[in-house]
Amino acid sequence: MIKRIGIFGSTGSIGKQALEVIKHNPDKFSVEILTANSNYEELIEQAIVHDPNIVVIGDDTYYEKVKQALSGTDVKVFAGEKALEEVAAMDCYDMMLAAIVGFAGLKPTLKAIQSKKAIALANKETLVVAGDIVMDLAVQNQVPVIPVDSEHSAIFQCLVGETRNKIEKIYLTASGGPFLGRKTNFLVNVKREHALQHPNWQMGAKISVDSATLMNKGLEMIEAKWLFNLQPDQIEVLVHPQSAIHSMVQFEDGSLKAQLGVADMRLPIQYALAFPHRIPNEYPRFSFRKFNTFTFEEPDLRTFRNLALSIEALEKGGNLPCVMNAANEIAVYAFLKNKIGFLEMTDIIEAVMGKVPFIEKPSLDDYLNSDAEARTLAADIMSL
Ligand code: NDP
Repeated sequence: MIKRIGIFGSTGSIGKQALEVIKHNPDKFSVEILTANSNYEELIEQAIVHDPNIVVIGDDTYYEKVKQALSGTDVKVFAGEKALEEVAAMDCYDMMLAAIVGFAGLKPTLKAIQSKKAIALANKETLVVAGDIVMDLAVQNQVPVIPVDSEHSAIFQCLVGETRNKIEKIYLTASGGPFLGRKTNFLVNVKREHALQHPNWQMGAKISVDSATLMNKGLEMIEAKWLFNLQPDQIEVLVHPQSAIHSMVQFEDGSLKAQLGVADMRLPIQYALAFPHRIPNEYPRFSFRKFNTFTFEEPDLRTFRNLALSIEALEKGGNLPCVMNAANEIAVYAFLKNKIGFLEMTDIIEAVMGKVPFIEKPSLDDYLNSDAEARTLAADIMSL
């Protein structure tokens, strides 16, 4: 049976690679929903090529343009933030690929889970912000949440067939980003262009900056906690610059399972869409001749303080990861607009984490309010 996919965030790096996977497997998947925020031209092009049932443009100022361009087709056009949620609740699809970047992905994903859609989750911020609520809702609705993030996909793959076996710990591998080995005196001068050049992966702008600051690894630690029901001390980050081992699980007998492969996001995307099946492809294969040495080292928490802040948020829990995430989103976008320096991002996040009142067991409204408060505070700090 053909699985009908809704790609939320189809114009992004993950969204486009998902469309490639689907195009190669027309007997397995169909594209039912495509969404973008403001990149209406790409959305129109995607709609013409992939002929979905529905498209949503988040920024409603582009509605007329999209509607006009698709007027000769059967594609239904919706616009606005609310429409993303409404479409997420519709019957016309089976699985959501949650590939919107940032907090904006949370509400559509919650709606999809409430509507009993399977979730292929790329949008890690959804779990960082409200992981307890998202995972509880998934259990209540018997909805699978299958990770797309390569590290979490690796752990998920290592856990297949291990349902009854406890995890002792997981090792989340990290490339170390473009500034591995660099110190504060170098980072102080880093500009947008440097931070966007990741050595091993081609990604969207926000996650590229997060990888450069190691915030991405911190967000992934929190994501792993919720996906695999772990305690903070069961999650260890290991810098592995070759990005060949995508992550590892250590079981109670001390045995380790690792998942390896080419650094190509189409693989975890394909795995999440097709789970529990593996489907053949012609993508490049891993070469042990090219990668004949694997190295590992501890992350440098003193230089890359975002990772230390994430560990604090992971350990303390409550609304702190949500607050940290919001401050980070504001700081990253300011850095991308050349308004603040690389190291200032951490200062802003730290200040906001210290200012928003802590809530130990937040409701969804508490999370939404904490997010808003943290954004306002971060913006205020930057305009001082
Ligand atoms: P991109 O920035 O490339 O794409 C983001 C997508 O989200 C675009 O379709 C964008 O639309 C849409 N979007 C942005 N803001 C909003 C909004 N406010 N409302 C609705 N839609 C919005 O991001 P990536 O594809 O790199 O990442 C997507 C998610 O996947 C992130 O959470 C990231 O952490 C995660 N991820 C990404 C990986 C990668 O390799 N890229 C690897 C692992 C995880 P528009 O184009 O119109 O702006």
